[in-house]
This record gives sequence, C-alpha cells and structure tokens, in this order.
Amino acid sequence: MNVRVNRGPFVRGLMTLSMLCMLFVLAGCGSEDNEAGAKEGKIKITATIGMISDIVREIGGEHVEVTGLMGPGVDPHLYKASQGDIRKLDQADIVFYNGLHLEGKMTDILEKMGAKKTVVAVSEDIDKSKLRSGKDTGGTEYDPHIWFDVKLWMQASQKVVDTLKESDPDHADDYTLNGEAYLAQLTALDQEVRESINEIPEATRVLVTAHDAFGYYGEAYNIKVMGLQGISTAAEYGSKDVSVLRDFLIDNKIKAVFVESSIPPKSMEAIIAGALEKGHQVRIGGELYSDAMGAEGSESDHYIGMIRHNTKVIAEALK
Ligand code: ZN
Repeated sequence: MNVRVNRGPFVRGLMTLSMLCMLFVLAGCGSEDNEAGAKEGKIKITATIGMISDIVREIGGEHVEVTGLMGPGVDPHLYKASQGDIRKLDQADIVFYNGLHLEGKMTDILEKMGAKKTVVAVSEDIDKSKLRSGKDTGGTEYDPHIWFDVKLWMQASQKVVDTLKESDPDHADDYTLNGEAYLAQLTALDQEVRESINEIPEATRVLVTAHDAFGYYGEAYNIKVMGLQGISTAAEYGSKDVSVLRDFLIDNKIKAVFVESSIPPKSMEAIIAGALEKGHQVRIGGELYSDAMGAEGSESDHYIGMIRHNTKVIAEALK
C-alpha cells in the first residue's frame, strides 16, 4: 500500500528546519567532546631528549602537556622512532627537538612533520660561530651537545619561550615570567659549574669519557676533554683510538676516567685494562649523564640536576 502524504511547502520547510537544528545539536555535542579530549585546552607537546622535555615543562607550566620520546639511558644518536613515537609526534601540536643532527636517525621524520605542524629545533637560533665543529672528531658539521654549555642551553630555552608565546599568545605573559625565572636559575648554575671545575688542580683537569659529548663543557668551564668515540656514537672506534687514549692516560698520569649512562661501559673498561697492563692504574671516576638524564626520582632527573651531578662527580674524582 502506498500512502502518499501531501505536505505543503510550509510543513516541508519546518521539517528541514528541525533537521538542521538536530544537526547543530549533534555538532555541538561533538565539539564538547573534543574540548574534553584536549585536556582543558592544554597544548600537546612532544620532545625528543629529556633535557628538552624539561625546558618545556619549566616554561610551559600548567598550559602544556609534555610527552618525551627518549627516556633515561637512551642514546639519541642511534635512536629510531617506533610506531608509537610516530603516533606521539602526529598527535602533538608542537614538536621540539635538538637538531644539529643529534637525532640522526629521525631527521627525515622530523622534516616531514615540519610540513604539517610547528616543529622546532631548539638549537635553531644559536649563532653558528658559537658552535663547535664536529668534523675533526669524525662527526657532523656541528657538535650537537649544546646542553653542556649552560649559556648555550639558555638560548635553547629562550627558543622554547619564543615558540610558546607565538603559538599561544593568550598565555604569553606566563611564558615570559616562567622563562625569566628559569633563565635566572641557569645563570646561577653556569657560575656554580665554573667555580667547581676551577677548584680542580690544572694538571689533573682532564675529562676522559667514552664519546665526545663534553666538548662544550670543556670549552665553557676550562677543562681538557678527551673522548674515545667521536661526536656521534654512530661512528666506529678502532684499536688505534684505544691505544692513543691509553697512552695519553699513562703520559699525563691521569687517575680517573668516566663512563656515560647512555653508552655501554665496555669501551672504557678496555682502556683501563690496557693502561694497567703497562703498569698505570686508572679507575672509573663515576658515571656521567651525557646524552640522557637520570632515572625519574633521581637527583639527575632534570637538566639542572644532571649538570650538577656531573660536575660533582668530575670535581670529586679529579681533585
Ligand atoms: Zn652524544
């Protein structure tokens, strides 16, 4: 049976109107869900290394939700992004990374992301003349370990302040204030490190580590630095490097070398054994945090704590 209902144009108009109203209600519901999902309007930020996550938390405060990709003990030179990491990068409003080829195996992914959203290298605004060359130690054009000169890391922190202000102008005043407070702490830290290292007698002021992460530290705080491996742990080292470093320890009567939390200690153990064979005793002066911070809850689970820990371990072992 076919019942034809003939509705006049007025009724048809009313029906269309009510359907439109329903659509608006549905759309309204949808947008409420989205707001709840974005955690009360917090900016979602994904950062590569822990030291950058730390800056973003300090400066972003209550306005940001930070996801870090590389945890304690992770070597950024060798790190490859997992599927989960790509999801974290995809979901972020802003991505921060170090740059200068530190995250060597992630460069393509980060560059591709940069076409879709704000992807910022914190090293971007640093005057290239302030950067160390990475070439003479078999690395890339520039040495990426800029966090080891606190003054350079202050510039990286300023880059985070500037980016957040630009992306979220409603809270610009908060980012400015947080930035000023954090930079004041870093100025004090820079002075503290300089004083501690100065207390080490000049003859023994030599920092021997597994890879060349401490070049900026050496230049900024006046301590000679020797690394077994180059600027990047992706470069191989050979028996010649081991014997050169071993002879350096013997010739300069160096009593302590340091292992790094993000690099297996076996390379330094080989050097210690080599020196001992030739009658020179060297010990491990302690573990330094080079390219990753310490475990959560430790004194080195944030940037300032990491630099303080390293400085204390170095000063105590070499004094
Ligand atoms: Zn490194």
